Amino acid sequence: MEICTVGGYEEVGKNMTAVKVGEDVVLIDGGLYLPGVIELQDQLDFQKYTEKALRRAGAIPNDQVLDKLGWSKKVKLIVVSHAHLDHVGGLPYIAQRYPNAEILSTPFTISVLKTLLEDEKISLPNKLRVAESNSIHPVPKSTSNLKVEFIHTTHSTIDSTFVVIHSNEGSLLYALDYKFDDTPTMGLPPNYEALKKVGQKGVKVAIINTLYASKKESNLSEKDADEMLKKAFLKTKGKNSALFITTFSSHIERLNNIVKHAKQTKREIVFIGRSLNKYVNCAIKIGRCPFQNEIKLLKYRNQINSFLRKVEADPGRYLVVCTGHQAEKNSILERISKGDTPFKFKTGDHLIFSSSVIPTEVNLEARKVLDAKLRKMGVQLQVDVHVHGHGSQESKKKLIELTKPEHIIPAHGNREQEKGLICVAKEYGYKLGETSHLVSNGEVMNL
Ligand SMILES: [Zn+2]
Repeated sequence: MEICTVGGYEEVGKNMTAVKVGEDVVLIDGGLYLPGVIELQDQLDFQKYTEKALRRAGAIPNDQVLDKLGWSKKVKLIVVSHAHLDHVGGLPYIAQRYPNAEILSTPFTISVLKTLLEDEKISLPNKLRVAESNSIHPVPKSTSNLKVEFIHTTHSTIDSTFVVIHSNEGSLLYALDYKFDDTPTMGLPPNYEALKKVGQKGVKVAIINTLYASKKESNLSEKDADEMLKKAFLKTKGKNSALFITTFSSHIERLNNIVKHAKQTKREIVFIGRSLNKYVNCAIKIGRCPFQNEIKLLKYRNQINSFLRKVEADPGRYLVVCTGHQAEKNSILERISKGDTPFKFKTGDHLIFSSSVIPTEVNLEARKVLDAKLRKMGVQLQVDVHVHGHGSQESKKKLIELTKPEHIIPAHGNREQEKGLICVAKEYGYKLGETSHLVSNGEVMNL
């Protein structure tokens, strides 16, 4: 089994891994590097992205390495672990390089990919196919009897999975974004039984996410986030003040909890902003949006502006769920803070950030500026009403204990974070350079 670490190693973003057994290659994920895209937005002023421009900006994985290896023509299947953009967002720009490979993933992920393609007016030659969580599929036209398994896990978006490539040479477990959450508030806990079974059959190599590998405190569950939300809502006093909340648009489980608490306020619940509209509609399309009849969803600028005029006139009537938790350019919160909308915050209004700041320089600075502006307007801010979707050390340990891989490759973190996982692996007897491996983008390992 050969593994090419195409993207997402020694970095967080643009994940892609190629696995070759015999004459068959399977690609796992094809993500975007988001800060790279933000830079590009500034340069291109929202023109349509091109593969070339994204490559130049380092925003998509450098899969041209597969051409040099002679692997590109052998790609039989592209599988996607979950719907976050650093896993699926690059595919609209690179999947056409593998026209004969199907793209296979869970319902929500395929729904998000279809929406990305529609929004960017891209049509791919690849067939898109839906695989339910906890299912096994033969790799089409495989000459080495390869099979792909999707195992359900909890994370911060629905339909997240571990991907297992089964082959005659053993199996590869791709365990990137996950948190073992035994008390999720929507959907099932992780499928430990399936992981155990894969472990019993023998895992040759596990590629494991390294974020928070050094964090010893226990994972917080989405149930804890729900408690935090409940308390945050109790603090929002004032019948006639505005009440806004923002969170990650793809976090359908969190949005469901927000709606649950919002209903107690008896206000009309309105979701505004493009990305909220995008992800919530994807969940509606696949029948996984329990709150669809409780909310109004507004997408277009003129709709949003006329709604915000109503909020300005009667702020106590509405609860607004909006975009802008990272103070992104052109998000609703950024536009309100600049005075670009008919609604203006006033002293005593409330805003809950059910999110954490993704720690890049751009985000940290943008949020600092946004928060200062909002506080100056007298807005009561509640920040970090959130638990993150990546497991701490105990989640990594549990995965190693359940699956007992022969080799471990850390991914999805900077070198320091990757070393954190190497340390955890050492406790289980893994030796760096022999059974645990620090790799960079574009390397090939023969295991
Ligand atoms: Zn993720």
